[in-house]
Amino acid sequence: MSAVAMDFVSKYAPGIAEHLVIQNATETQNTLYPGVDLNSLSWIEKTWAEYYIAVGNPIIATGMMSFLLHEIVYFGRAIPWLIIDALPYFQKWKIQPNKHVSRAQIWKCTKVVLLTHFTCEAPLILAFHPICCYFGMKTFEVPFTSLAVMAAQIAFFFVFEDTFHYWAHRGLHYGPFYKHIHKLHHEFSAPIGLAAEYAHPLEVLILAQGTITGPFIYCLFRGDLHIFTVYVWITLRLWQAVDAHSGYDFPWSLRTFIPFWAGADHHDFHHASFTSCFSTSFRWWDYSLGTDVKYHAYKDRVAAAKKSERAAVEKRLFEEVEKEGIKAERIAGMGGGKAGQEGHSKGKIE
Ligand SMILES: [Zn+2]
Ligand SMILES: [Zn+2]
Repeated sequence: MSAVAMDFVSKYAPGIAEHLVIQNATETQNTLYPGVDLNSLSWIEKTWAEYYIAVGNPIIATGMMSFLLHEIVYFGRAIPWLIIDALPYFQKWKIQPNKHVSRAQIWKCTKVVLLTHFTCEAPLILAFHPICCYFGMKTFEVPFTSLAVMAAQIAFFFVFEDTFHYWAHRGLHYGPFYKHIHKLHHEFSAPIGLAAEYAHPLEVLILAQGTITGPFIYCLFRGDLHIFTVYVWITLRLWQAVDAHSGYDFPWSLRTFIPFWAGADHHDFHHASFTSCFSTSFRWWDYSLGTDVKYHAYKDRVAAAKKSERAAVEKRLFEEVEKEGIKAERIAGMGGGKAGQEGHSKGKIE
């Protein structure tokens, strides 16, 4: 941490400053890794330990890594979608081919996302390491968890997040919550990857709980979780969120191999129809509770159309879905309580 920032913290928050003291490399190694032979570790575990030793304070080391991981993974995944969107070759797989975002929209989206990252995340960064320690999560420790255990833990986080997100997202469609919180995210009726976190700061904080609460609950009951596993989970979750907003459905998209994977095909329909498809990763909550009836009715009608007429039928039906979506969004945008919730009972498309 720079001297200026450290002086500021020492002056205004001396209680915090005492936890941010940076030790030299020898002191850090003796404190964090007493008796550990770093040369006996795998390359990645050794690099991990060397990083914590080089930074000299685990709170700052975890904070910096968490923030950088989020920025690199989010923009690293979103920017290729902007390039794909600019290439004519990929247009045939665009879900809403008539919708194009302007440079001004991309720039506005980037500014909102960065502002939210810096204002919402930055204050939480310093708290992340102590919170992880409080729940018993391993941070600087090496070695990591085995791959098999890691995979099982991440599978649990996916299921937990999907469930949390489904209900929180439906709650955000309740008129007053929609009007004041979720409306910003629905400015894109045909989303782009970069818009995955284009949302009110409160929405970002609420939905982030689904990502981070699973690991903390796991820690409470099992206590053998490493933050490295959580980083792998956050990376996969960010890829899922950005891809779901990409606006493209390829023949090689994950949902074509895993039938219950939601993907862009499902979430794009949410943005267009407004009242269907609330899940993130999986389709089962929407399917079980009938909030994807309109989506399946639309898909079935398109599939039943003659091959020669399919494109025209698809276009006409999607316009109908969109028209209803715009109407429902307008009512919810004025705080109408039922608008965001009634779609599941209106599954028919004429
Ligand atoms: Zn929504
Ligand atoms: Zn969305």
